[in-house]
Amino acid sequence: MSTENIPSDSKQLNGPKFLKSEQWDGYPNPAWLKKDKKKVTLLFNFVERRKSFFLQAYFHRHGFIYKDLGDHIYEDVRWGKEYGNRMECNPMYFTSGSIIKNLFQIQKETGLTKEEIVNKYVFLGGGGQCGPCRYGMYPQEYLKAINDAGFKGFRILIFSSDIIQDPMPKGSAFTFSLAFKIDILISVILADFIHIAECALRPYAKDKEQALAVLSKAEEILLEAFKSPLYLIKLPEALKKVSKMIADVPRKNLKLPKIYVTGEFFANLAHNEGNYNLRRFIMDEGCEVFPGLFTQRILYDNWRRTREAIRGIKFAASEMERKFHQTALRKQNVSTSIVNWFYKYFIKSFNPESFGGKSEILDLDHLAELARPYYHPEIFGGEGNLEIAEAIHYANSVDGFISSKPFGCMPSSGVSDGVQAKIMSMYPQLNFLSIETSGDNEVNILSRVSMLLFKAKQKISLG
Ligand code: SF4
Repeated sequence: MSTENIPSDSKQLNGPKFLKSEQWDGYPNPAWLKKDKKKVTLLFNFVERRKSFFLQAYFHRHGFIYKDLGDHIYEDVRWGKEYGNRMECNPMYFTSGSIIKNLFQIQKETGLTKEEIVNKYVFLGGGGQCGPCRYGMYPQEYLKAINDAGFKGFRILIFSSDIIQDPMPKGSAFTFSLAFKIDILISVILADFIHIAECALRPYAKDKEQALAVLSKAEEILLEAFKSPLYLIKLPEALKKVSKMIADVPRKNLKLPKIYVTGEFFANLAHNEGNYNLRRFIMDEGCEVFPGLFTQRILYDNWRRTREAIRGIKFAASEMERKFHQTALRKQNVSTSIVNWFYKYFIKSFNPESFGGKSEILDLDHLAELARPYYHPEIFGGEGNLEIAEAIHYANSVDGFISSKPFGCMPSSGVSDGVQAKIMSMYPQLNFLSIETSGDNEVNILSRVSMLLFKAKQKISLG
């Protein structure tokens, strides 16, 4: 290639001077320091109400001033779209919109200026990498939307993120300590347990309202036990107590169609308007639905990182790189053992079999092998091979199978659903439906779900 046309002054390669700009390092996210701990309220939520409800226990025990922002609602999407970038997947709009909606609400209720709110509040929430897709941009998108809404310099604390919170600044009021990580795991497990109980009771209870009241009472009992510094001793006792309360709820003796829901993590596991309250709709329409367990999703994340580490060791270009992946592998193995240990420790006391609860955690190696011929398990991003593997795993044991994903979700709509066509041709008995959530369009989506449920009911009535 001739070099005669390349300017001798390399700066000219960047274009005319008026177009030149400085390197952009992202939005500022100032540290929240220990000295301000008692002057600041920590706002938080995490996918659905029950998880953040139980997480209150951690903030209570550690002396924070906190406010649980609870469930996502449709209004969150409107706020998220107003201040967020175009063409994001809707979990992003739900989560960023929820923060902005609440900040404006606080402004209205307290009369504080935006600057005062920035000084007196911080937000803590999830924003992990779910692979090569847009989820990895959550922290910057939160900050962009919040700053554009006028809360300049508002501080956020994001867990499961490789992007901005690791390591936390020195002297921070809040750190992602081991104690916090264990407590968030326990919060997820407890939320899963109550969800298991709801899936077991709701379609069968003689009095649905009474059953739901029992579940609310159970949540309060568990939260009280979890708030105690002796929670590792108190929670098993509390779990035994609520298990008995749940088992005592009078139930109808019915044979209902069984529906399995899979899909992108938010569209599958936000048991709120984030997925049109999908499982509740299915149950209220007279079907049984398998619970969607967040613990299973955490284990998949660990499984994925383990596979990445094994691959990293195999193809390491240097000794240093190999050691890096070996350390990562050890960490993931420890993390997986901790998750399994806590789940098993608490489930013994909760005893879901006593009230017909389904609490099975699927073997991820087995699922990977089921999916392998159709979806390579080491193609990561979103739920990876899970949706395909679960369709095969449940093909002969459920009456309906729904794959739920946000509109435009790359791994789930773009890849998994393409492969599902092959799975459906192999298992024509699989009553399959793919739906895309968008934060609106509820009637259309749920009417499509109704058609699947109708077919499922026909299936069992025909024997
Ligand atoms: S998995 Fe889909 S919905 Fe979830 S962040 Fe990635 S692209 Fe968005």
